Formats: sequence, structure tokens, C-alpha cells
Amino acid sequence: AHEGILRRQAARESSARTYARALPIVPVRARGLTIEGADGRRYLDCLSGAGTLALGHNHPVVLEAIRRVLDSGAPLNCLDLATPVKDAFTTELFRTLPPGLAEHARVQFCGPAGTDAVEAALKLVRAATGRTGILAFTGAYHGQTVGALEASGGAQEVRVARLPYPQDYRCPFGVGGARGAELAARWTESLLDDPKSGVPLPAGMILEPVQGEGGVLPASDAWLRRMRALTEARAIPLIVDEVQTGVGRTGRYWAVEHSGTVPDVMVLSKAIGGSLPLAVVVYREDLDVWPPGAHAGTFRGNQLAMAAGTATLAYVRENGLAARAAELGERMLGQLRELEGAYGCVGEVRGRGLMIGVELVEAEGEPLDGAAGAAPGGPRPTAPDLAAAVQRECLRRGLIVELGGRDASVVRLLPPLTITDEQASGVLDRLADAVAAVAG
Ligand code: PMP
Repeated sequence: AHEGILRRQAARESSARTYARALPIVPVRARGLTIEGADGRRYLDCLSGAGTLALGHNHPVVLEAIRRVLDSGAPLNCLDLATPVKDAFTTELFRTLPPGLAEHARVQFCGPAGTDAVEAALKLVRAATGRTGILAFTGAYHGQTVGALEASGGAQEVRVARLPYPQDYRCPFGVGGARGAELAARWTESLLDDPKSGVPLPAGMILEPVQGEGGVLPASDAWLRRMRALTEARAIPLIVDEVQTGVGRTGRYWAVEHSGTVPDVMVLSKAIGGSLPLAVVVYREDLDVWPPGAHAGTFRGNQLAMAAGTATLAYVRENGLAARAAELGERMLGQLRELEGAYGCVGEVRGRGLMIGVELVEAEGEPLDGAAGAAPGGPRPTAPDLAAAVQRECLRRGLIVELGGRDASVVRLLPPLTITDEQASGVLDRLADAVAAVAG
């Protein structure tokens, strides 16, 4: 069955298939961290549905919540009608929101993916400000339709200005650390304030507190506070995309809480649906300028996703899983950093909470000019082939990892927040073995 399914799907599906190429497995059962394939093999899953599974696969509280809705006979798609299931979801969601936003928040259900909520957020700030331009950052990932929005609106209408996202290692200014973040912030300010820059006052700024797909790049708290001050001073709504960083993943319930930053708009998806599709945009109530029907969508009322999401949000809050992610993530990062010294092909290990990345570089490569970084002599050229090889070696050892970064040279771990110490050791051992095998 295993081989036949792989063969048929490869023949039938689009050539844009991604995960299916690197991970030739056929999942048939899953629980917690573990996936069982049709070939009878078991895998530790640190891809977690691209970060969707805060509680791992098929957590009993999530299954129970879904069963309750099914057994109640409730309609499963309720558009944007009021329902008890939605009432419970928004109650729990509002309970978790960062202070400063929680007291004055509105939520718009979007359907059904993170991308949809990003589009809604961009649309909202344009409607609220009457302006069009959007400030976004190098290496950012907000979904698959921003390009489409840009194209359909025309360059004049939705202009996206790209700003440097601060990085310690591979800092575009060649200095890293606080100084690099300062230069990135100044660049942004000068772009906004210099009439010659050609960038008119924008409708909003959108950023990820930790860039996930961009290669696990945590922004410093100081830089985030700076972006908040800079946007506030110019009345530019700040949209924080917490699609991947939310629900405890980085060690706080929402990643903005590390810096005490209060966004105007938050984009949420992935874990908020407890593994089912759900996406919302949450925003300050005075931005609620939309007339009825201004933002629609058939699949905004998925009752199963709301119930699974409510159970997930509550479980993370009640069991202190954000603090657990902070503590375990710190330990895992500490152990993984030993690989930096041990293997020339490991460029940098970085992350926040249980959002972890290991960058692979050319072991023999010359350091890049002008870049300062953690590795002695500065960063070497990235090595996507080695990263792909590490992913393959991990899979052989029963570990599923994702690749990220602009050229897919970063091995990414997004384990469920429920991962035990013993399971974490199993993950680290397999990854270290895989790196050793690739390093030769
Ligand atoms: N924003 C961020 C930060 C993401 O990581 C992703 C997905 N990886 C998205 C938006 C898009 O979400 P989706 O794939 O559900 O459309």
C-alpha cells in the first residue's frame, strides 16, 4: 500500500508538491509526537503540521472537543452566524490576548488559512487609514496570496516597501547584535521620514516576531519595541503575524509578550484551530471601520475547528505550556549549540522556545565578506544540499524535520509543546547522528 500510494500521488498531484517530495512517508495513525506510516515505521514528528500542533497529534482534549460537537448535532459550517461553539472560542481567545489589546479587541473570522487572515489584516489597515502602502521585511513569510494582492491591485495601489529584518548572524549591515538592529531601525525611520525616499506614509507595517519560514530568526525585543514606537509616532498600524509564533510556541503565550509590545493588529492561525483550519485577525476596536459584508468568506464558521481550538488554547493556558516551551527550548538550544563547535558544517543554532533552527553551511567555504557573526571568522555560504541531506538522514532515523530559510539551508524543529524530556532527548540524539553522518 505504502509504495502504491506514493507512486499514484506523485503521478496525480501538482509538481508544486513540497513536503511530499522530501518526506516520502504515508501517515496512517498519529498520537502526540509520533506518526505511524503505512509501512509500519514510526517517526518523531517535529514538523507538527508546519507548527499547527501545539498539543501534538490527536490530543485527547482536542478529540473530545471535536466529538462533543459531532454528537451535539450542531451544523458544522455556520458561516459567520452566532453559535455557542464560537462563543466559547472567542471567550477563551480574548482571555489569552496580550494586555493592552485584550481590553479593546475585535475579532474577524477569516477563512480558513493563515494567508487569508494576512490578507484581511492588510485590507483592514488600508480601509482604516485610507492609505495603501505596506511595510514588510526581508525574509518575511506571510503566505501565498500577498503577491496576488499586489498584482491584482496594481503596483500603484498596494505598494510593498521591503525593510531590513534585523539578524545577528548574517546581519545585512555586517555588525549584528544591538548595533545591527539599531541600523535596521534607523534605515526604516529614514525611509519614512526622508521625502526623497519616495515612500509615502504607509497603511501599515507587518512583521513576524520570529521569522519561521525565513529560517528561524528571532527579532530582538529592543528592535520590536523600536518598531512599535516608530509606527505609533507616525500613526501607522502595526500588524504582528503570530500565525507560527502564537499559542505558547516561543515561550510566551504570544511572542509579542516577550517585548511587551502591543500590536494594533494580530494575525492568528495554525495552532488556534487545534490542528483544523481556522484563522482570525484580532485588532483594536477603533480600527473596526468595515461596513457589514466588507470582509466575507464561506469557510469562516468551522465549528469543529473552533471547538478543537478552544480546547487547545485552554489547555496551553491552564497547563503553563508556554513556560514549559521556554524552559525546554532553552535546554534543547543549549545542547544543539554543541554542534556548532563540533562540526564545520553547522553555521548557527538559533531559536526561541520550541521554534528552533540549525543552519547548514559549507564546511570549507570562505567566510563571507563584511558579515560579522557568531561563528569564528563570520558566516560561511549556506549549504542547502547539506540541509536536505540532514533532513534525509533524520528521516532514516525516524525523525521528521522541516527545512526553512531563504534557500532552505536551515533544519527546523517545531515539536509539540507537550513533548516530554525523554522524547526531546530522542529528537536531539537523532538530529546529532544525522548531522554527524552528513559531516562524514
Ligand atoms: N504567516 C506565517 C508567519 C506563517 O508561518 C505562515 C505559514 N507557514 C503563514 C502566514 C501562512 O499560513 P497558511 O499556510 O495557513 O496560509
